[in-house]
Amino acid sequence: MELERHAYDVVVVGAGGAGLRAAIAAHEAGARTAVVCKSLLGKAHTVMAEGGIAAAMGNAYPEDGWRVHFRDTMRGGKMLNHWRMAQLHAQEAPDRVRELEDWGALFDRTPDGLISQRDFGGHRYARLAHVGDRTGLELIRTLQQRTVALGVDVYMECTVTRLLTDADGVTGAFGYWRESGRFLAWEAPSVVLATGGIGKAYKVTSNSWEYTGDGHSLALAAGAGLVNMEFVQFHPTGMVWPPSVRGILVTESVRGDGGVLRNSAGNRFMFDYIPDFFRKETAETEDEADRWYDDKKNNRRPPELLPRDEVARAINSEVKAGRGSPHGGVFLDIASRRPAEYVRRRLPSMYHQFKELADVDITAEPMEVGPTCHYVMGGVEVDPDTAAASVPGLFAAGEVAGGMHGSNRLGGNSLSDLLVFGRRAGVAAAEHASKRAGVVALREEALVEAARAALAPFEREGGENPYAVQSELQQTMHDLVGIIRTAPEMERALERIAVLRERVAALSVEGHRQYNPGWHLALDLPHLLAVSECIARAALAREESRGGHTRDDFPATDPEWGRTNLVCTRTPDGELTVTRQPLPEMPPELAEVFEEQT
Ligand code: FAD
Repeated sequence: MELERHAYDVVVVGAGGAGLRAAIAAHEAGARTAVVCKSLLGKAHTVMAEGGIAAAMGNAYPEDGWRVHFRDTMRGGKMLNHWRMAQLHAQEAPDRVRELEDWGALFDRTPDGLISQRDFGGHRYARLAHVGDRTGLELIRTLQQRTVALGVDVYMECTVTRLLTDADGVTGAFGYWRESGRFLAWEAPSVVLATGGIGKAYKVTSNSWEYTGDGHSLALAAGAGLVNMEFVQFHPTGMVWPPSVRGILVTESVRGDGGVLRNSAGNRFMFDYIPDFFRKETAETEDEADRWYDDKKNNRRPPELLPRDEVARAINSEVKAGRGSPHGGVFLDIASRRPAEYVRRRLPSMYHQFKELADVDITAEPMEVGPTCHYVMGGVEVDPDTAAASVPGLFAAGEVAGGMHGSNRLGGNSLSDLLVFGRRAGVAAAEHASKRAGVVALREEALVEAARAALAPFEREGGENPYAVQSELQQTMHDLVGIIRTAPEMERALERIAVLRERVAALSVEGHRQYNPGWHLALDLPHLLAVSECIARAALAREESRGGHTRDDFPATDPEWGRTNLVCTRTPDGELTVTRQPLPEMPPELAEVFEEQT
């Protein structure tokens, strides 16, 4: 079989923040390292991150520290986070940010020259290091430059379709060049998955075309477990109009910098949706909320900065109650609250985004916004210290990994997660590879089988088009496994997913292998179906409401479920199973943090 072959110690799948940070760490640990990515280097999802990187550096508030960040993260995730991941994340994020600065990242500064830190929902203190509202761009620029300067090999516009394993674990990966359609295989004892999210399973999303849950699905197929898959984050503020831009993100920094949400009657409705869990730390009146922007010590936070799940549900309820904006969202107003010059300086991308895409001047009029599928909390179950999955040689970091964010991620905690666990994954992957040097080999039959499966859509004639299947799946997930869920709807979703799976097995693609997006989508669809099924099954099993998972038929948060994780795995014959697993127990010295500060 015609096949390009390569051998490395560590292959990193994904060139977002997690993948690049992992590759740098693996290379620095002496491993021969390659990075593979679906799109051009630098175009990963991370580049779209706007608001900033959460790290308790204490620049804005000296009383901030890792324990406060740990507590905020756990509370934001409604205590379902893996405590050890949340601890490592809070402890190591400041060093990872300083390291980025050493490598050339130019953060915005405070008047006395420190890295500036901005407010975001759920964070007790202003702690997001940022570069205007283009933080992800700077992060990627810095990591990319370092990766290339170190001489890490990069395979771009190249999609991995299979992980290769033997009885002892990972042996490599198989994929194709998107441009030529030619196949290639990497022999490697360690593979780090850093493939990002699953947003393209939903109709309205802030995610771009490449977030089809590949890493989640590849890990599942290789025998790893996926944890917390029922928790999908709907960001409260995506654009709603015009239809061509529906779902594009409106950064939380708009609210962090003073923007407020209003309904069609002009009311700041978030005051009506403050849950008891956050009441003590949330302002009761508009006056107190407004004072908080200038005096955080003596006032409580505005309810617009509650965690994302709370704000998304509130917007959903206002729209359902008939108090929405003309195009089915609500109003986000910063124009009447801050001078035009301030808005243009603090939120340059938002200013241009609305001007160019919606012909709205956000310094003069309110934006229309509504929830958009943004982030998946669920992902590969990993060991917190090493990012190792249960399959030897397989590691996962960034959005594709699960556990860190529990049932709901706080804004800014993803970029820090990528850096902290990307580095840990790279170090551990290099170490694993050093112990398995020279003993892995690719089995010829596995390569032939991977190629056969990839070419199957060309062999069939008269089947339907992959785009039709994708759009039905997206509509199904949007309608039946969205922000508010019920058992009958999710059962219906699972029936439809089963039918869609049969249709995917029968679909055909036209043309040839050279740059053929229809074929690429045909190969992505099984991944989308796998993650959709995991989300729906886990969501059906969790009979409570918590974080990013709201059940209309089980509206309360149930303490028993607060001690339980759901893990999806595949049986050897391909069946998906969902297993209950007790949460890891938090050591008493960490549990004390919650008594200290609540
Ligand atoms: P990504 O950056 O998503 O990269 C995934 C990589 O995997 C890509 O290179 C892709 O090509 C590759 N890939 C995928 N599948 C394959 C395959 N089969 N074969 C080969 N390569 C593959 N978080 C914050 O903390 N702060 C913010 O301010 C913030 N703002 C955001 C704004 C927007 C608009 C969006 C969408 C997200 C934002 N987030 C933010 C979330 C954060 O950006 C993402 O969670 C994070 O960047 C994910 O990084 P990652 O490294 O895990 O993956």
